[in-house]
Amino acid sequence: MTEAVIDVKLLEAQHVLQTYKRQPVVLERGEGVRLYDDQGRAYLDFLSGIGVASLGHGHAGLARALGDQAGSLAHTSNLYFHPLQGELAAKLSALTGLERAFFCNSGTEANEACLKFARRYWHTRGDRGRTKFVAFSHSFHGRTMGSLSVTWDEHYRAPFEPLIPGVTFVDGADPQALAAAVTPETAAILVEPIQGEGGVRPVSPAMVKAIEDACARTGTLLIADEVQSGSGRTGAFLASPAAGLTPDLIALGKALGAGMPVGAAMVSADVAATISAGDHGTTYGGNLLACRAALVFLDELDRGLLAHVRDVSAHLFEALHALASRHAAIRDVRGAGVIAGLDLDRDAAPVVAAALERGLLINRTSTTVVRLLPPFIVTNAHVDEAVGILDEVMTQL
Ligand code: PLP
Repeated sequence: MTEAVIDVKLLEAQHVLQTYKRQPVVLERGEGVRLYDDQGRAYLDFLSGIGVASLGHGHAGLARALGDQAGSLAHTSNLYFHPLQGELAAKLSALTGLERAFFCNSGTEANEACLKFARRYWHTRGDRGRTKFVAFSHSFHGRTMGSLSVTWDEHYRAPFEPLIPGVTFVDGADPQALAAAVTPETAAILVEPIQGEGGVRPVSPAMVKAIEDACARTGTLLIADEVQSGSGRTGAFLASPAAGLTPDLIALGKALGAGMPVGAAMVSADVAATISAGDHGTTYGGNLLACRAALVFLDELDRGLLAHVRDVSAHLFEALHALASRHAAIRDVRGAGVIAGLDLDRDAAPVVAAALERGLLINRTSTTVVRLLPPFIVTNAHVDEAVGILDEVMTQL
C-alpha cells in the first residue's frame, strides 16, 4: 500500500477500540518542542504527550542510545540479570531517598505496585485487617482496577464497580476530614503533591500537616503519586520535599522514560523488608530499552536540565500571571516548574480548541483548567510564543 491510500482516521474508526476522543490531527514527527502533522503543519507542543516527552521530540542522544540498545539487546525478562536495572535503581534511590525500586511500564502500574506493597507491608507484619486506603478529592491515579479504586472522579469509577473496598475520599480542603478518615485500619494514604489531572492543584500546607499528624498517630504508610509531578517537572526531582511530604512509597512514570513507557514504585527500606520474591512482577518492567531511556533522561538532568526547568519556570509563571492580569476569565494560576494550570471561570475546552487552530497544543483538565505541560527543554522564547497565542485566544473568548 502506498502512503496516499492509507486513511489513518478511517482505519482507526473501523479497528481501534473507541476509548479516546482524539483531536483531528495526525502527528507524524517532532523536533525539540515542535510537532508536525501529516500536512506538514507545525505545532508548538505545550503538552508533551501528557507530561512524557521530557527531552522534547527527536532527541539525538536518546535516539542513539535506543538504537544502540535495540541493536544489542532490547529485552531479557526479569528471569535474568542485565546490566542496566541496578544502575537505574541506584540512581533513583539516591534521587528519592527511598531504598529500592520496582520497575513497571506506566503510571497506573506504579500506583498498583504501591497499593500492593502497602497491603503486603501490613500483612507481613501480622496486621491483616489493615487494608484500607485514604485518597483525596480530585485525585487521579490511573485506570487499572486498584488505581481506579483510589481515583476520585466518579464517572471513571462507576461503570466498573465493585472496585477494591475500603477506600475513603477526603476533601482536599478539609484537614479535619483527613484526621477523621485515617484509622488504625488504614494501610496507606495516597497523595499527589500537585494534582495533575485533577486541575493542577498543589496539596495545601494545612493538609500536609494533617497527613504528617495522621501518619504519626496511626503509623499508616504514605504513598506519593509523583507520576506527573515527579522526575524533575517542578524543577526538583520530586515535588514531595518542597510540599513537606515524606512518603514511604513513591510512584514515578511519565517524564522518567522521556517517551519510552517506564514506571517505577520506589519503596523505603522498611517496606522493602516485608516484600518477598514472587509478591509482584511484570514481563517488561525495567527492560533494557526502558532503563536505557531513563538513564539518558537522568544524565540530561545531571547536565543542568533541572536548573533549566527552574529558570524557564520563573519566566513561564511571570508570563502567565501577566496574562491573568489582562483576562478576568482567568481566576487562578497554579503550578510549579513546567506544570501550569490556568483556572477559568468557564469551560476550558474552547480555549484548547482555539489554541490548536493556532498551532499550540495544550489540554483541559477538571473542566475549567487549561493545563500546560511542555517538554523540560522549553525555552523562554517558546513560552512567549505560547502565551502570545493564549493572549489572542483569551481576547477572542
Ligand atoms: N498518576 C498520576 C498523578 C497521573 O497523572 C497519571 C496519568 O495521567 C497516572 C497516575 C496514570 O499514569 P498512566 O497513564 O501512565 O497509567
